[in-house]
Formats: sequence, structure tokens, C-alpha cells
Amino acid sequence: HAALVWFRRDLRHFDHAALHHALRHAQKVHCVFVFDRDILDALPSREDRRVGFIHHAVTELDAALDALARATGGRGAGLIVRHGRAVEEIPRLARALGVDQVCTNRDYEPAAITRDSRVAEALAADGIGFVDFKDQVIFERDEVLTQGNAPFSVFTPYRNAWLKKLDSFFVQAYPVEKHAGALAPKPEGERIPALDELGFGAGNLAELRMPLGVTGGRVLFEAFKGRIDRYKRTRDFPAVKGVSYLSTHLRFGTVSIRELVAYAWQHGGEGAETWLSELVWRDFYHMILWHHPRVVETTFKPEYARVQWDDAPELFAAWCEARTGYPLVDAAMRQINQTGYMHNRLRMIVASFLTKDLGVDWRLGERYFADHLIDFDLAANNGGWQWAASTGCDAQPYFRIFNPVTQSEKFDPEGRFIRRYVPELERVPNKFVHAPWTMGGIDQSAAGVRIGTDYPAAVVDHASARARTLARFGVVKGG
Ligand code: FAD
Repeated sequence: HAALVWFRRDLRHFDHAALHHALRHAQKVHCVFVFDRDILDALPSREDRRVGFIHHAVTELDAALDALARATGGRGAGLIVRHGRAVEEIPRLARALGVDQVCTNRDYEPAAITRDSRVAEALAADGIGFVDFKDQVIFERDEVLTQGNAPFSVFTPYRNAWLKKLDSFFVQAYPVEKHAGALAPKPEGERIPALDELGFGAGNLAELRMPLGVTGGRVLFEAFKGRIDRYKRTRDFPAVKGVSYLSTHLRFGTVSIRELVAYAWQHGGEGAETWLSELVWRDFYHMILWHHPRVVETTFKPEYARVQWDDAPELFAAWCEARTGYPLVDAAMRQINQTGYMHNRLRMIVASFLTKDLGVDWRLGERYFADHLIDFDLAANNGGWQWAASTGCDAQPYFRIFNPVTQSEKFDPEGRFIRRYVPELERVPNKFVHAPWTMGGIDQSAAGVRIGTDYPAAVVDHASARARTLARFGVVKGG
């Protein structure tokens, strides 16, 4: 028996469901990663930081597989890397290597499901099997259902059922060490194409000094263990190092979800419990996407599809370019533009601002995030946007509208985060930093900033925007 393990969003050499399965059942195991042209060609920038992140992880994985094979007396191994269309490359490689089976970890996105069924079909035509495994979540698809056997659409009861079902079985690692000797050496002449051969640069990834690959994921997780007890108290304050910053690693599988959940679960306490709850949100949105792939195009709640958004390209551009005049919103947009990351509290604030203050369709914001976040994940991003726009499952009710100034006063009270990204407001006193348009001329000159010239005046008035939003959502009242 020979098998081919196809790596996608699981770029690690430990605790890996598909690799575990292949090593247990096959005498010879090959590994492959495809830089898929169907995905890469559609990216809006040739400097996309995600490609650099993946490239680094793939390079590290190649070396780690080799070390793993040698440590168990094998002749060395590695990752075969292709640049082409996965739907063609995988069947072609499987045939060339003469494997009986292609093993991979399940992906719940509609486009991935379509891709995988096409690959499975092409393989079947040659008598090659295709098997996929649950790996990137703890519970998937129909594993957590209501008492009436229906999928949940409200988070809290889902989380309760999820926690009730959790036991050590579901967080056990899928070990790969024991049979790693079955890893096959890389075919002669195989090498990983350089980033520029793929047609990409790494953008500013190096300047961000983001910890990369499984090594980086490990560093972040170990550091977070020292902060986890404070997570509940600190996680909402973007100026504080409160959260784990593991989202990109979770997205690309350079950490293992089982290891993270097992740690939080065993550690206990309010910090770990709150963090575990965030990891449950991640499963929740993957489950929602799998059951309701239509959310990619339309609102989760059908009646909300009637909401008419404004056609306001100037306001949308002001939001994208951090020129709204609302300092925390602008600081947050500069954070995503510069670093490819945005703090969760800020994601909620800017998403609410775009939809409820600027009246712009959540799908435009969703797309902007998809293009700029290094941790972009279709399920979580769509879920987060629909939540903020009040169109989603378990969304905040449309009549509860974030006040961007109050949010700023509450979660960045001293304007520390604001000043980090909006240095124009460096010398603005705390009492004006959340709403600098309220400053009179004397205060403006004392702070060395002219509102409307050095920093924009507010693009909308929140009170009237709020009234417009309530009217806009009137079409679904009682619906
Ligand atoms: P931590 O607070 O340390 O949380 C740990 C992990 O839990 C995260 O890495 C993430 O995997 C998961 N998680 C936390 N909150 C959520 C959530 N609300 N939904 C799903 N999973 C969650 N997260 C993404 O990973 N990719 C996205 O594209 C994304 N888009 C979002 C868009 C909007 C509008 C909103 C409101 C939220 C979005 N989130 C997204 C969720 C959340 O903001 C990020 O996961 C989080 O900020 C990442 O930082 P962290 O790893 O330090 O999080």
C-alpha cells in the first residue's frame, strides 16, 4: 500500500489526522502541498502576506518531515511541492507515484468541497481512493446537534452542548512518530519553488516580525499560557497584549486545535474558560458554513436580505483608507492595512461602523477583510460580519447599535491604541481623543492638530446615522 497525504490548511508535522491515518495503513507515504493557481491567481495583490506565510510554513514542514523520518530510522522524507491547479496536480501526482489512496484533512468551505469532490472523482476514475478526516475542528458538521437533531443556529446552547460532549477522546493527538519510517524519500530533483517563482513577494511580512510556521505557533502559544488567566479581563482592550494572536496559526494549521483545547480545558479558571469559548465560536462558524453554504452570498436570516444598503463609494473609501474621523475606527483600519491583523473588539467596532453608521453593505467589508487579513477564514469572517450587521445567526439585534465614541472610551480609555496608529492625535487630551471634532480652535492649536486638515472631521454624525439605520432595518421589523 502507498498513500499520498495532501496538506492544505494543516501545515504541521505532528498531531495530524490524515498523516496519522496514512502512516498507520500504508507502507509508503508521500506528502504533497499544492500552491493552487485557482486560489493564488484570484488574490488581489502579488504581495499577499499569506503566500509568504504559507511558503515559510511549507519550507519548515519539508525539513520537519525529513527529520521525523530520519529519527525513526527512515531514509529521510520531505514535501513534494507543486504550483498548478490542485484539481489536476493531485490526480496526476497520485498516478505518477502509484499510490492507492490520497489522504487529506477536511475543509468545510463550499469552494473546497467542490474542489475535493472533483479530485475524488478524477482519482476514482483511476481506481485511487480519496479519504478525508476531521482535523481542524473538535466537532464538525452533525456532531453537535439540538435535542431535536437539528443544527444549532444560536451560539450559547451550541456551546453548552459542545462542552457537554467534550471528553479526552476528542482532544487526543493523532500521533505520527511511531510509523514515521514509512515516509517516502522525496523523488530525485524535487525542490520547493521560491516565492518569486510563484509570482509573489512577501509584502511587509518580514517587517511585521510575526512568528512564522510551527516554530512561531509554538512561541506564541507558550507565551499566551502565561497570560491565559488574565484573558477574560484583558481581551477587549486592543492596547493591551491580552489575546493569543494565534488566529493565523489556527487558519493554516501550524498549531493543533486539539492541543489548544486540551490545554484550556485542563487548565481551567475564568481566563481559560473564556478563551475556550472563543475556540468554540470557531467550530460554530465552521458548522454554520457547512450546513448553510448560502451565507457566502446572502444573509443567514432570509428576511434580512430585504435590507437596502446605501451606494456610498466615498464613505466606503474613507473607511478603507482610515479617514472616517472616528479615531478608534481609523486606528483599527490602519492596523489591518499595515499588519494584516485587527483586534477582535476592533473588528466588531469597524464592522458595526461600516454597516450601521455608514450604511454600507456588510459584504463589501467582508471582502475587504478577506483581502487584507492574514488570518482570513471564510467561516469566521462571514460569521463575524453577519453578526455585526445583524443579518446572521445569533447576531446582535439590529436596534442595538454600537456607539463608536462610547466604545472607544470604554475599550481604549486613554487613547493608547489610537495614538499608536494615529500619531496625528498624539497630543490631543484624553477627553477629546475619542471625538476630536468636538475640540474648539484653542484646544486644536494646543494639540497641534487642525481637525479637517491634519486629521479628518467626522464623516457622519452618529445620532443621525443611527436613526437612518433603524429606518433601514424597519423592513424586517417583526420578521
Ligand atoms: P483570541 O482571542 O486569542 O482567540 C483564539 C482563537 O479563537 C482565535 O485565533 C480564533 O481562531 C478563535 N476565535 C476567536 N473569536 C472568534 C470568533 N468570533 N469567531 C470565530 N473564531 C473566533 N477570525 C479569524 O480567524 N479569521 C477571520 O477572518 C475573522 N474575521 C472576523 C471578522 C469580524 C467582523 C469579526 C467580528 C471577527 C472576525 N474573526 C475572525 C474572529 C476574531 O476577531 C479573531 O479570530 C481574533 O481577533 C483573532 O485574534 P486572536 O487569535 O488573538 O484571538
